[in-house]
Amino acid sequence: VYEGILRRQSLRESAARTYARSLPIVPVRARGLTIEGADGRRYLDCLSGAGTLALGHNHPVVLEAIKKVIDSGAPLHVLDLATPVKDAFTTELFATLPSRFADDARIQFCGPAGTDAVEAAFKLVRGATGRSGLLAFTGAYHGMTAGALAASGGAEDVRVTRLPFPRNYRCPFGIGGERGAEIAARWTENLLDDPKGGTPAPAGMILEPVQGEGGVNPAPDGWMRRMRAITEARSVPLIADEVQTGVGRTGAFWAVEHSGIVPDVMVLSKAIGGSLPLAVIVYRSELDTWQPGAHAGTFRGNQLAMAAGTATLAFVRENRLAERAATLGARMLARLQALATDHPTIGDVRGRGLMIGVELVDPEAAPTGDSPEPPPAPALAAAVQQECLRRGLIVELGGRHSTVVRLLPPLTLTDEQATAVVDRLADALAAAER
Ligand code: PMP
Repeated sequence: VYEGILRRQSLRESAARTYARSLPIVPVRARGLTIEGADGRRYLDCLSGAGTLALGHNHPVVLEAIKKVIDSGAPLHVLDLATPVKDAFTTELFATLPSRFADDARIQFCGPAGTDAVEAAFKLVRGATGRSGLLAFTGAYHGMTAGALAASGGAEDVRVTRLPFPRNYRCPFGIGGERGAEIAARWTENLLDDPKGGTPAPAGMILEPVQGEGGVNPAPDGWMRRMRAITEARSVPLIADEVQTGVGRTGAFWAVEHSGIVPDVMVLSKAIGGSLPLAVIVYRSELDTWQPGAHAGTFRGNQLAMAAGTATLAFVRENRLAERAATLGARMLARLQALATDHPTIGDVRGRGLMIGVELVDPEAAPTGDSPEPPPAPALAAAVQQECLRRGLIVELGGRHSTVVRLLPPLTLTDEQATAVVDRLADALAAAER
């Protein structure tokens, strides 16, 4: 049965399948951190629906909230009509947002994916500014629809994307220590102020406070504040893509809180739907130049997702799971950093809260290009992922060369589970090195 399912899907589904290729399991049951395959094997799931499951799989409060809507006889599909379920979701969401932002904010339900909300954000700032290009960063990931893809950093980090979309600008993301962040910030400033290049002002700047798919790159708080100052001085709306970083994941309820900046637009999805599809943008009311019907979408009113989302947001807030993520994440990071002293294949360990990345390199190969660092080790990273799977641990790879092992466990992770995750990863690394 198990093999049959895998074979039939691999024949019928597009070769674009991603997770199914590297994680050949057939999940049939799940609870919290654990997924059970059709073959009865159990796995610790540190992929968590690509960072969606703040409370893990099938958390009782989420299941209860979904059942309550079903049992109440409420319509499951309501387009964008006002309902008690939607009212509760909006109220809870606004209660979690930084108050300086929420006090003057509007919400637009988009949907149902993160990429839809990214498109909506672009459309909003283009409409409000009358400008077209977007300023985005190297290593960025914003989704797979045309506009979001054009703003994502592809393999070739070019300044102007090759896709036939409005002129976009690509700036270096502010990593690489204090010096790297400063150089990156000046780069952006120069681009915007370039008197000869004739750079038209962009409609907006979009950034992730911690890049996820790009390989877990936390933006330094100082660089975030610089980006806020640079955009504010030039009246360029700043869009914070918190699709992956939101809802406590990085150790603050929203990752922009670390730097204290107030963006103009926040793009939210993944965890806000409590494991069901939901995506919104929240933005400064001044940007709301939209006329009735200016933004629509059939699937903006998924009542089950809103109820699951309300339960998730409330649970994270009431149980201070953001603080928990900060403490536990720091502990896991320290253990992984200690591991790096025995493993020269670990080029870097970084992260924020429970968004952690372990970058694998080839310490024996000669450095390539201009970089003095050892080159990336994609074959080793793929082997580590497979060795993890053999040990019952699901991890995802990220980064430009797919060499960053990413951990995105639920915020409900226990101390024992955190220990087990690091232990299994350490074993897997040792086995893959052999
Ligand atoms: N933005 C960020 C920061 C993301 O991590 C993702 C998904 N990984 C998206 C946007 C796109 O979301 P979706 O896959 O739901 O379209």
